[in-house]
Amino acid sequence: MRLILLGPPGAGKGTQAKILVDAYGIPQLSTGDILRSAIAAKTPLGIEAKAIVDRGDLVSDAIVNGIVSERLDADDCKPGFILDGFPRTIAQAEALDRMLLDKGAKLDAVIEIKADADELVRRVIQRAKESGGARTDDNEDVLRKRLGVYQDQTAPLVAYYSDKGLIRTVDGMAPVDEVTAAIKASIDH
Ligand code: ADP
Repeated sequence: MRLILLGPPGAGKGTQAKILVDAYGIPQLSTGDILRSAIAAKTPLGIEAKAIVDRGDLVSDAIVNGIVSERLDADDCKPGFILDGFPRTIAQAEALDRMLLDKGAKLDAVIEIKADADELVRRVIQRAKESGGARTDDNEDVLRKRLGVYQDQTAPLVAYYSDKGLIRTVDGMAPVDEVTAAIKASIDH
């Protein structure tokens, strides 16, 4: 099973990805998590990415494409994967198409998790409080920036994948278990 979770910050991609990892026995591949680990470890990549992530901009396509390409080569991705936070631009989606073509692999579905902006702000502010400030990009100003970047750069992926017949839209405002049920139903149908 090869899935992409698509949705704005706070929509619940990470929460659902973790549930789906257990349900389908395939790994979650979160470019945000990978970048945050690199930042925490102060690797050359982390040092380069920190300022960009902190201000809510996107790290360059070349960097994240490299991260994902390397990760997809790992053995645990052979049976499938759940991409969370990638692709985020049309150029990234095209790069992913090339990576999968090279492997002779196909996507099964792209799950669009929809949520309204006010609820997203509320959730992310809540996440910031609960995590004790673990994420330096989870404050209201940077969040609004990330929502704008999502609308400009990532929302066009819905049409991109819709044209390929891959989009499944679920309501991210529903309770967590209902969102999971909707995702599973959309995949299994
Ligand atoms: P969100 O909660 O906004 O969905 P993520 O954890 O997915 O957050 O990503 C956090 C930050 O990491 C982004 O705002 C961006 O700076 C960087 N990032 C993550 N994935 C990508 C990507 N595919 N392309 C570019 N930048 C990315």
